Amino acid sequence: MFKSLEDIDKKLSEHLNYRNSCLNLIASENYASDKVRSYLSGDFSNRYGCYATLNPDDREYSGNKYINEFELETHDLVLSMFGGKYVDLRPISGHMAGMGVVLGILNPGDTVIEVALSDWGHGLVGPMRLINHFEKTINVEYMPFKNAEVDLDGLIAQCRKVKPRMVIFGGSGTIFFEPIKEFRAIAEELGIIVVYDASHVTGLIAGKVMPNPIENGADIMFGSTHKSFPGPQGGFIVSNVEEYIEKIGNALSPSLITSHHLNRLPSLAASILELKKYGNDYATQVVKNSKALAKELNNLGFDVIGDKDKGFTQTHLLLVDIGKYNVEGAPGILLEKAFILCSDDFSGDSVQIRVGTPEITRRGAKEEDMIKIAQFFKDVIIDKKDLEKVSIEVQKFAVKFNNIEYCF
Ligand SMILES: *Cc1c(COP(=O)(O)O)cnc(C)c1O
Repeated sequence: MFKSLEDIDKKLSEHLNYRNSCLNLIASENYASDKVRSYLSGDFSNRYGCYATLNPDDREYSGNKYINEFELETHDLVLSMFGGKYVDLRPISGHMAGMGVVLGILNPGDTVIEVALSDWGHGLVGPMRLINHFEKTINVEYMPFKNAEVDLDGLIAQCRKVKPRMVIFGGSGTIFFEPIKEFRAIAEELGIIVVYDASHVTGLIAGKVMPNPIENGADIMFGSTHKSFPGPQGGFIVSNVEEYIEKIGNALSPSLITSHHLNRLPSLAASILELKKYGNDYATQVVKNSKALAKELNNLGFDVIGDKDKGFTQTHLLLVDIGKYNVEGAPGILLEKAFILCSDDFSGDSVQIRVGTPEITRRGAKEEDMIKIAQFFKDVIIDKKDLEKVSIEVQKFAVKFNNIEYCF
């Protein structure tokens, strides 16, 4: 148990030292600039800003004069960056935003198609069905994939058969852009609501290195503001359809969220301004780095997932099947012993690692650094070198990346 502030400070600095000496390749993490971080501790962190959906001027609490202005200005910034006519920034995380979409819009008996966990889906509706009542009321089907890309023909056939009310594109392992534009006609024909879960790729959309789903026919887009998008932890929802944003808002408030963590607003506003200026350079380098890393891992003998002719990935992450190397236990735990942080999945038939480049790019890494990183993976997974020795080399390498680029 902590006894003093010194105890707390000591533990925090141990954490910082540890994380600064690790090579962070977790695709869902990032490093917000000092300015963006600084706003989180402002006065807003102790205020309430509850408002009536679609009518932010109607605030439940007094003292909200500037909070209201702040929220509306930030709404405009978000819409100017992601498109759409309506926005809700009350979800305090991407998952909460997704729950608002699902709970606000679906009716009992509806079917949803989403990405399966075994294809690196996040799991919105699937896990929700563990709650007894939803298991009886909401049906879920899983989107077909072929070589890590959405199988559009398969999906269309599935839609004709199961007649979903909603299709949710986007997952936690998106390496190729989804066929939103191509799906639009069938969605209109069958009356399907097209939702895009942008949690992972928000920074790529902001940086304009990925087609914007809202501009390409998604009815609703939601996501996190802290993964490839280097902002504060939080969620957002945008849509062109007033009815949808109203229903979603009514599910969010008051049933899912009351205090919506207002300190995120200045921080998010600052990160949007940052990305308007530096986002394209940042996102371009993120993708260059993940392509370079995928290519080098392939050169070293790794089974990198995805079409080689397309460079294995179009995004901030790459997937590697390491099944043939007989790694004992969780690959993520093994790699952490060498001070390398990334995600793994060995729940299905294959053993995979997911390697992301947002944070390392933000901290200064370029393509040539990916050669060295690929070698570290070989040292641990293929050559099974002494982990302590590898970790010393990794730490020496990781501390080179302690600056922050692409920010004011
Ligand atoms: C991370 C993630 C979420 C949840 O976002 P949080 O901000 O962590 O709540 C939702 N969907 C996908 C695809 C994700 O990867």
